[in-house]
Amino acid sequence: MCDVCQEEGRDPRFHNGKRPMQFCRLYRVYKSQVANINLCHLHAIELFCIGETRFLESHPRLALRLHRSTRTSSSDVFAF
Ligand SMILES: [Zn+2]
Repeated sequence: MCDVCQEEGRDPRFHNGKRPMQFCRLYRVYKSQVANINLCHLHAIELFCIGETRFLESHPRLALRLHRSTRTSSSDVFAF
């Protein structure tokens, strides 16, 4: 399932039909690492057109989830 659609509670089949998911990489999220995400056809086109920075600005839930995934288990304990 598309990571953006999943975070925003959308059904990707509704606006993509049977088009396959696309595996995308974000290079500016993590320092010296690559973030791997799955996107539906429309969100992959949006990422290509507006670029990585503006894509994350327009989808803050995805950016927040990527940020949370950088935490270690010990920092999660201290966050609560
Ligand atoms: Zn999507």
